[in-house]
Amino acid sequence: MLEVSPVRAFSDNYLWLVRAPGDRRAAAVVDPGDARPVEAALEQHGLALRAIFVTHHHPDHVGGVQALAARHGAEVFGPARERMPCDFRPLDDGDVVSLAELGLEFRVMAVPGHTLGHVAYHGHGALFCGDTLFSAGCGRLFEGTAAQMLDSLDRIAALPDETQVYCAHEYTLSNLRFAAAVEPGNADVLETLEAVGQLRARDGITLPTTLGRERRINPFLRCREPAVRAAAEARAGTPLPGATEVFAVIRAWKDGFR
Ligand SMILES: [Zn+2]
Repeated sequence: MLEVSPVRAFSDNYLWLVRAPGDRRAAAVVDPGDARPVEAALEQHGLALRAIFVTHHHPDHVGGVQALAARHGAEVFGPARERMPCDFRPLDDGDVVSLAELGLEFRVMAVPGHTLGHVAYHGHGALFCGDTLFSAGCGRLFEGTAAQMLDSLDRIAALPDETQVYCAHEYTLSNLRFAAAVEPGNADVLETLEAVGQLRARDGITLPTTLGRERRINPFLRCREPAVRAAAEARAGTPLPGATEVFAVIRAWKDGFR
């Protein structure tokens, strides 16, 4: 298993610091939107930054990339279909990033929807999924379609139950409130809402989550469940032909949910 620590940035971002299994003094970081808290964490743990992984082009994910790459000489990996702020190794679906001396290996998954070129990194039982999957939620459709996002989430959901999922934002509590509105009869959602409410009251971190848990609580992974479908149809006021339409209705519902 990887040793992964959260670095907090902005109001609710997590920049994930990954300690290299092969070289304990070396580290990689995922989606460094701000260089300063990453520098502080590297210094605190006495680590050298060797690699930077980027999931998509939004400023809160790439804002610190250029400064960190220049200062540490770290290699930058990012989605082939998106613009990055500096030279980087472009990656697409199925590519494998193997950093032998660090003992790190990730398989790249193209997961369009939030943005068109969005990628996720899977390896060592962990998934770094940026703004595609959140605990009990998913990213907004800024560039892609509902069909693209559902397909991306389906491919993520096909990974093993025990996969540790490192999402890029602390949105779990508000997502669970929405999940409870969609599925008021889902005991797992209600139990998790209670536990996460207590954790957040102490400013605790709700991540990583696991795919097994998400399959039980995340309405966006549950579009084929009769209860989620019924809630979407009630919301739309009409029968919905398939999972894509169910997904589109609950995504739009969440966009306006307070
Ligand atoms: Zn984003």
